[in-house]
Amino acid sequence: MLAGAASLMNRRVSSWVRRGGILGILVVVLPSAALGWSNHPLCTWQAVAVMPGMAERVVTAETLGSFLGDVSDRLPAALEGEEIWARAHLPFYAPRPDALRFGGTSAVGKDAASLRTGFVQAIRVNEGMMLDLYVQRPPGVGVPAERVLPWSSASVLKSLEDTEAGSLERVREGDVLRVADVVATATNEPDLGLDIGLWADSGSAQGGRYGYGAQPFGNPHLAYGTQAPFHMGFYHESGLVYRAAGYLQRTYPEARIHLFMTLSRFAFAQGHPYWGWRFAGWAIHYVQDLAQPYHARVLPGVGALTMVGIGALDMLGIHGPQVAAVSRVTNRHIVLETYQYRRMSAAYRAHDMDDPLLAALRDTSDDGSLERLGTSSVREIVSAQSAAVADELDAQLVRTFPAADVVAEQPAMTRLVADRMRQVGRDTRAVIRVLDPEGVGR
Ligand SMILES: [Zn+2]
Repeated sequence: MLAGAASLMNRRVSSWVRRGGILGILVVVLPSAALGWSNHPLCTWQAVAVMPGMAERVVTAETLGSFLGDVSDRLPAALEGEEIWARAHLPFYAPRPDALRFGGTSAVGKDAASLRTGFVQAIRVNEGMMLDLYVQRPPGVGVPAERVLPWSSASVLKSLEDTEAGSLERVREGDVLRVADVVATATNEPDLGLDIGLWADSGSAQGGRYGYGAQPFGNPHLAYGTQAPFHMGFYHESGLVYRAAGYLQRTYPEARIHLFMTLSRFAFAQGHPYWGWRFAGWAIHYVQDLAQPYHARVLPGVGALTMVGIGALDMLGIHGPQVAAVSRVTNRHIVLETYQYRRMSAAYRAHDMDDPLLAALRDTSDDGSLERLGTSSVREIVSAQSAAVADELDAQLVRTFPAADVVAEQPAMTRLVADRMRQVGRDTRAVIRVLDPEGVGR
């Protein structure tokens, strides 16, 4: 490069670094198609199967309206405490506007529909989520046609590639359900739309009210992309990357995990175990997502200097390196999930419980390293471990699937994904041990 051009570029780069503009486009299309793990219940059923007594435990289904109707005078204090905690402990948290506060005594006696609306607004999730009663059935287990839940009762999305509409079974209030099915089903719910369209620039009425501000990254024009900052947590990038792209720190998995664990504890304490387990499953979803290296690192396999460099080139009009980096990371993210989903759903259908991924989820040999999930574990253990293996996994994906072809047996790939599943299993159990009122000593 000519000396003059280099110094011009340096000046421009440092001014963009100050403005925080670099990498803006780099991450804008990143997570448009990615879920974290595909079909979380496939992971959760295995993870909880090895918890003592879990296979036999049952719980009685209760509608959200019944739950809220009973707790509407006590829930406001719990939510208020949570809001105070989030404001004090999460530096990039956007405070919940006071107008969204759950009704308190004014909510007493309200009908189920207005209670639901008040609740979803107070916890700032998608207002279109009906939160009806259902359980998901594993691949290979049929649901009688008359009991299939209408898809719109579960999701605000038109469809979801990894979740068959016919796998959701309608449940009535009072039905007795396996706890394992309730918690596993709930671990898919955040991917069914809880976090879609919540930003000021999402083009939705709720986005204007919720106070989250503009979407920090991900494509605001793709519905699915809008949930990315809730399901990804970039806690382990270099200082250089944060200086160049501070908005990468505006992520919400820690807030979601803490909120849903608080709601779970509250529901159990108030004598509503069905909702205790359902909220536990919601919290577990985000913990499981953070074990996915593409949810814990912006660009696995790319060093900080290179990241900032290709961002800078892009700002100078040299788009090739950035376009290539974005499409590489997007493809690999999708290939990893496709591999995990196809392999695990095939194992379920074949009743092959010895499949290495399913076995890894039940492997408790590493549970001692995280018995109970604490507030700091999300950042310091869960996402730190997946961020640490991101480069290795990324390199192996390229060796295993040079043409992004997910077909054959791939021992090295299997070992690395099994390691991730071992962590998902451990982390799932670590949340349950904290929340389960009968979990002492389990
Ligand atoms: Zn997710």
